Amino acid sequence: MFEQWRGSIDGFFEQWFPTSCVRCGSLGGSPCSSCIGELEAAASIKQIPSLDQVAALVRYDEISRPFIADLKFRGGWSVVRTLAPALSFLLDDIAATHHPDTVLTWAPTTPERVRYRGFDQAEVVTRELARQSGHRVQRLLRRLPGVHQTGRNRAERSQGVHFAALGRVPQVVVVVDDVVTTGSTMAAAASVLRDAGAATVLGLALAATPDRTMS
Ligand SMILES: [Zn+2]
Repeated sequence: MFEQWRGSIDGFFEQWFPTSCVRCGSLGGSPCSSCIGELEAAASIKQIPSLDQVAALVRYDEISRPFIADLKFRGGWSVVRTLAPALSFLLDDIAATHHPDTVLTWAPTTPERVRYRGFDQAEVVTRELARQSGHRVQRLLRRLPGVHQTGRNRAERSQGVHFAALGRVPQVVVVVDDVVTTGSTMAAAASVLRDAGAATVLGLALAATPDRTMS
């Protein structure tokens, strides 16, 4: 699937998105086709508590990191537009065995950060994926006040992420994120969704750190 997608988009994005690549600077999308060629597919992800299944598209490494950083810190949505079609295939893979009426949601970042940056990168990924896949998207979680994740070490990050459910939670929910590192944010989100009535909670991310994966 990954290889197939990679082969099919060569040239397409150069024509439609004349953006310069944040990693190598060449014109022709970000990631450009040459950097896409270097992206490693993510391996299977280890079990994360409260989630039935989790998958990520690419490995979070020195190749993919500049693109995720561009999205997270500068609102560079090119990576989302570029990777959303492949993420949509991956969504079909993991959601197909569950329920046709799968609802996409995201674990919101802190309101302070949304105010400062003007967007929530997880929401950006989720909405673009919904557009690509035709699935419904719904804001199902509210972030409760707590500590920031960026700049904290792993042990600190594993605590202090709390959510509350909003409204009626559907039976099958996919929590979408830009990157899975410790999995603690997704686990916290999934646990709240389950308590609020979700029977199946899946996780999907653009990237995952190698230590989250089984290879
Ligand atoms: Zn490039």
